[in-house]
Amino acid sequence: MDCLFCKIANDEIPADKVWENETCLAFRDIRPQAPSHVLVIPRLHVDSLWELEDVALAGALLDGAARVARAEGLEAGWRLIANTREHGGQEVAHLHLHVVGGKPLGRMLPG
Ligand code: AMP
Ligand code: ZN
Repeated sequence: MDCLFCKIANDEIPADKVWENETCLAFRDIRPQAPSHVLVIPRLHVDSLWELEDVALAGALLDGAARVARAEGLEAGWRLIANTREHGGQEVAHLHLHVVGGKPLGRMLPG
């Protein structure tokens, strides 16, 4: 499968890794939207949150995101984003959680 994030997980494409364990890894977004912008992905390919059925993997990803936030020193606050499928604006079809912080992010949702 020709998947960018699988290639990063398999060390075929370089990335600025900040954390990893047996099931997940985290690396800096190449186009950061905030001082801290890290992507947390499963090592094994899952298209998006829509296809995620492995509850243990879901927990591992969330735990990874929280670990990254702490390692980045985001005690003032941060945001977790999972753009999902077309209407969610997902560009890379390998499940990834955005950990974003390091500045006030404002309100994202209307209302
Ligand atoms: P999205 O699928 O819209 O949730 O976002 C995909 C994210 O992947 C974007 O924020 C991109 O900047 C990021 N991205 C794309 N290619 C790379 C790469 N080679 N290394 C790190 N981040 C990347
Ligand atoms: Zn993949």
